[in-house]
Amino acid sequence: MTAFKAGSRADRITERARNEKWKNPPLRIEMLECINCDACLRHCPPQFGAIFNHGPDVVIVPELCSGCDKCLPACPVNCIYPFEDWQAKGSPVEWWDHAAGPDDPYL
Ligand code: SF4
Ligand code: SF4
Repeated sequence: MTAFKAGSRADRITERARNEKWKNPPLRIEMLECINCDACLRHCPPQFGAIFNHGPDVVIVPELCSGCDKCLPACPVNCIYPFEDWQAKGSPVEWWDHAAGPDDPYL
């Protein structure tokens, strides 16, 4: 039997893997355009909880991002884009420090 992989947010954090059933690509924030207003972070549904403050930057952990697009209309400068080649680039390991850590805004 094949288990439903990375079903919950906690599973995805543990496995550092996307839900296999998500068809939309994750999103990424273009840091050169971002004004660090945190609006997107407040609009990411907690069951995904993919956007974090990382030092002066705001980042989307692609493995946690469902591609639901709820953050897009919140961004005043339209600097959130599809991250088509996320699997080749991956996310910096230090971004995971924010997921399920003491500063996780979705817990
Ligand atoms: S697309 Fe959805 S899950 Fe991904 S960062 Fe935006 S609001 Fe969060
Ligand atoms: S809403 Fe847009 S400008 Fe504001 S932090 Fe998110 S990506 Fe950056």
